[in-house]
Formats: sequence, C-alpha cells, structure tokens
Amino acid sequence: MESVRVIRTVQDMHRVADRMRRDGFRIGLVPTMGYLHGGHASLIRQIGRVTDRTVVSVFVNPAQFGPDEDFETYPRDFERDLAMVHAEGGSLVYAPSKAEMYPDGYATYLEVERLPDHLCGASRPGHFRGVATVVAKLFAAVKPHVAIFGRKDAQQAGVVRRVATDLNLDVEIMIAPTVREVDGLAKSSRNRYLTPGHRRRATLLYGVLQEGRDRVLKGEKRASAVIDAMNRRVSRSTGVAVDYISAVDAEDFRPVEALGDRVLLAAAVRFGKFRLIDNIVVETEPRAVRELR
Ligand code: AMP
Repeated sequence: MESVRVIRTVQDMHRVADRMRRDGFRIGLVPTMGYLHGGHASLIRQIGRVTDRTVVSVFVNPAQFGPDEDFETYPRDFERDLAMVHAEGGSLVYAPSKAEMYPDGYATYLEVERLPDHLCGASRPGHFRGVATVVAKLFAAVKPHVAIFGRKDAQQAGVVRRVATDLNLDVEIMIAPTVREVDGLAKSSRNRYLTPGHRRRATLLYGVLQEGRDRVLKGEKRASAVIDAMNRRVSRSTGVAVDYISAVDAEDFRPVEALGDRVLLAAAVRFGKFRLIDNIVVETEPRAVRELR
C-alpha cells in the first residue's frame, strides 16, 4: 500500500505548506489527537471536497489535559491512523512530538474569555487555553486555507472560531455534524475505554439529549424543567455520574432559562472513571422561518 507522508517538524511542515501554496493548492487541516474513528474519517472526507490537499494533524496535546486527566493513557495507534488517513484520501499527516510543540523555554498560551465559562470549560479548568493554543500553533505550522472541527465538541468549535476571528487568522472554519454509532453513541476515541457494561449503558448519553429535545419540541419553554427531566433519566441508571447537563445558547454557550427557538443541549457524564460528552442543537422553528422574522 502506498502510504501517506508523515511530517514531524515545524520546519518541514512550513516547507511543504509553502510548496503546496506556491503550486496553487488549497490546504485543508483536520486537527486530531489520533486514534482515528468514523467521526474523524467524515471530517477528512468533507474537507477533501473543498480543498486540494488534506493535512491531518495527530498530536495528543498535553496543554489541554488537567493534571488528573487521561493524557498518559489516551489511546494511541499511529499505524492505524496512517492507514485511515490514506483510505479517506488525506495527503499527509503532521505528527510533531511534544518537544517540537512545547520545547524548553516555551511560555506562550492563548486565553479566550467568556466562551469557556460553562460546560467543559467550567469542569476542565485550562482546557480551552490548551485547545486555543495548540490550534493556533497548528494553523501557524500548516498554513491551511480551511480547517474542520466536529460539532460533537461544540464548545471547542466555538472557541476555535472565536480565535480565528479575533486574531484575524486567514483560515475558514468548517463545522461538521456528529457521527454516531448505530445505537446513537457519538463516536469518540475515548469509547474504547468503556467496559462492555459501561458501553451498553453509554447509549444513555444520547438518550438523555433526546429526552431533552422531545420536551423542547413539545413546547416546554423552561430550561430548568427540561434539565430536570434529563437528570431524572440519568438517575434511573446505576454507575453513572453527571458532570453537567445544560441548556445553553448555541453561539456563546451561556446557560439560558427561557428557551428560544434555538438551544444547545449538552451533557457530560462519567461512566466509571471515564467521562463522555455529547450535545444536540434543538430548533423549534426551521431556519427559513426564523430568518423571515
Ligand atoms: P479528537 O481527536 O477527539 O480531538 O477530535 C478531533 C476532531 O474530530 C475534533 O474536531 C472533534 O470534534 C472531531 N470529532 C470527534 N468525534 C467526532 C464525531 N463523532 N463526529 C464528528 N466529529 C468528531
């Protein structure tokens, strides 16, 4: 099998990116932490439709993990990742080492205000500082025209959009729908941590979001009532702990009480030691109708 090219250093990445740009190619970037699955594959395919060369970055970013989180045990399988990038039509993989990204003396971090105040930003202090920093560094190295992120990590995508806008970065940010297993569980590298028992129970996460969506679509306008119903659903299951269940504004991620015609329902739930997140946007009016008003 012909394999994809792997680039390990910023200097090589600059050289290759400059050449691609000189040759008139539009560069697409898919930032990932590796252990690729169908969600990543869908991002690679979607960006491939609007660019000429797709760079997939594979870097488990220590700066976005808290001290008690799973940086060391985060799943890794580089050979399998390369095969998937190749199969989905990716052109190259940018996989810098930790020392290449954060060499001795490294001292610069990006702080985004307000957007990280709730949801994962509240339960993982410093997480989005690490995300914003690594994404800015990946953009600087790969020089993409377009970068794509998954809606599964909606707050992350919002933070990245904010960074690109605020720093006047010349990159278009695409956001792709969440890819799910047949039983509704959002695909995630972390799903492999789940014991068979937790895996069966993990469908609860999407079930909880659907429960919330049903309530909103039936006309419930009070976020607290929707959230209570979602929490009740979790409390019927054992071995599961809620990190957060929230109804927030889909643009700025601030909790809302009176539900408008577009709300993001988001949940983070622990199954044993492992924490999974998911979200859905619920719209009570089709966009075309909203835009007429
Ligand atoms: P990760 O490797 O988990 O950091 O994810 C890399 C990118 O893939 C992020 O933009 C994620 O939002 C996106 N992603 C992860 N899982 C999914 C999924 N199930 N569906 C769509 N995108 C996803």
